Parts: sequence; structure tokens; C-alpha cells
Amino acid sequence: MNSIKHTLLKSVFSVFKYTKIHWLLKPVYRGKGVILVLHRVLPESTEARIGANSRIEITPQFLENLILFFQKLGYNIISLDAMHNRISSKVKQRPFVCFTFDDGYVDAHEIIYPIFKRHQCPYAIYIATAFPEGDITLWWYMLEDLVLKHEHVAFTCKGENHSFNTVQPKDKEQAYAAIRNLILNASKSEQDAVISSIFTPYNIKEENYADQQLNWNQIIELANDPLVTIGAHTVNHLKLNQLTADEVHKEIQDSKTRIEDKIGKQVNHFSYPFGGRNEAEKREFKIARNCGFHTMTTVREGAIFPAHRHCCECLPRLEITGRHQNLTLVDMRLCGIVTLLRNGFSRVVSV
Ligand SMILES: [Zn+2]
Repeated sequence: MNSIKHTLLKSVFSVFKYTKIHWLLKPVYRGKGVILVLHRVLPESTEARIGANSRIEITPQFLENLILFFQKLGYNIISLDAMHNRISSKVKQRPFVCFTFDDGYVDAHEIIYPIFKRHQCPYAIYIATAFPEGDITLWWYMLEDLVLKHEHVAFTCKGENHSFNTVQPKDKEQAYAAIRNLILNASKSEQDAVISSIFTPYNIKEENYADQQLNWNQIIELANDPLVTIGAHTVNHLKLNQLTADEVHKEIQDSKTRIEDKIGKQVNHFSYPFGGRNEAEKREFKIARNCGFHTMTTVREGAIFPAHRHCCECLPRLEITGRHQNLTLVDMRLCGIVTLLRNGFSRVVSV
């Protein structure tokens, strides 16, 4: 089904690319503006990669191009606070774009900050506090190395033997996806044991991957610049709909409180980990809203419309990934093509 959808989207994109008729959709689907979701900004790797990891990375050059592209289109690049004010404003203004970066990777300080500083543009980082606390295992990079460096991967996990052929790139991708599911579907209390059973036989140590996260000093430095908004993204970056209501509340509230204590400022914005329809739903939206944020964002794809003032607990975003480093494609998505196809012609994407 997904491949049919993908093929359909691809052919629709090429029709729009050559006819430019997507511009007709712009006045209907562009809305007041758009919130972008990005993760990492890193120089292009020359080595083989696993798609699930490389897709969350764009290059510094593409980020520069993206900023210039929105400026050329006449968009205002604004902060999440300004976006929140604009949703309810009746004043006719130029369209806006907010740049948001999820998780709390070190490039938000080392690479992204200098770019936005140079352009004097605001951006936001949503932090899962286990990142700066050093309490998270970056198993997705350990797993990438495991399947890339071996032609066969085998381990025993929870009494079951697992064995994967990892010779060809396609096999490596499949093995990565299967082992990733094994880890993600383990409960929080099981996860450490699952990770250990996979990587210990290969002597892959988590401390060798611990330099990818922002530390608190970097976060405090960024928070002191009015260009940067620090938002919350839970403590442990779990699939919230798999937790009890109390656990969800704790994950969200504790991340807000911890960041506020560290940066000495109120944290008014939040994004749901993963943020798709399979991970964050009505119950999570209600709990997050009760934690007192001004805005909360998902990864449902859509632009921001005045009607979103009634559902600030589930604002859609437009995801920019390593696969989307193409301004023509970004332009088409701004016109609402994906929103239109994925959401049955509904403009206001929320729940
Ligand atoms: Zn995240």
C-alpha cells in the first residue's frame, strides 16, 4: 500500500513540476505559514549510510539555501512565540516560517547556531532531556555501524535467537529495520537489556557514541540568545501512546521543569517524540495541554491556519529530511500537495 502511495505521489509531483499548476493551490493551502521540523545538520558523508539515519540529516549548504529560499518567497522567519501570536491575529501579514530542530543534537550549537546567527533569524530546539543528561543510548548509530561493518549479525535477545544476513545494502537496511523495531518495541525497563544483548557480542560500546548530544552548558548559552527558543521534547523520547497516562504526564512535565531550572526561563513550547499518528494521539494532546505549553507540535504534515488557534496542542509541521534536499520539492509541499493527498482535501490538519 505504501509503495502504491509513494508511486502515486511521485507521479503527481512530476506532473506539478512541469505544469506548475500547484501554484493554483497556494492561496488555498498555504495558510498563514508553516512550521518546519528538522533534526540534524551535518556535512555530507562520503561513507555508506543507513537510510533511517541519513534521512534525518541535511547539509549546512541546504540549510543556507532553505533560509534564502523562504526569504526570496517573502516569508517572515519567526520564533514560536511570534507564531503563537500570529495564529490568533486578524492583521493581514506576510506568510511565516518557523524552523524547529528536534531532540538536542550537538549540531544545533556547532553548525545550526552560526548559520542562524549570521542571518539574524530565530529558530527553536526541542530537547529530550535525557540527551544533555547523558541518559540516552544512541543505539540507532551503534546499530548503523553494526550492520554496515558486518556481513552477518546474530544475537540472542529475551531467550530468542536472531540472525541476519547483512551482505548487500538492501539486506543491511532490512536488518537495521528489524533490529530497530525490536529495540523500539521493548518497554523502557527492558530496553537496556535488549540493547546490551545486541551490541555486547560485537564490543560496540555506547560511550563511543556519547559526543553527539548537546550538553547543558551549550543549551544555556543558546537559551541566552533571544534568537533561540528552547522547547521540551519529553525526558526519554519514548512512544507516548505506549505509556500509562501518569507516565506520559511525567515524561512531559519533568522535561519542561528540568529545562526551566537549567535555563532560568519558562518553556512554552513542546513537540511530541516521533509525533506521527501512531505515537501521539488525543490522550497525549490533552496531557501536554494541561502541562501549560503555549504550542505543541506533531509531524502530521500541514500548514498553519487561523483555525489552529483552537488546537495549539497538535499543530502540524512540514518535515525537511535528507531525502527532501530539493527546493522545488519544498515549494510544491508548501502549496499543500502532500496535505491534500494525505488528508483527504482537508486543509486544517490537527488530530
Ligand atoms: Zn524526536
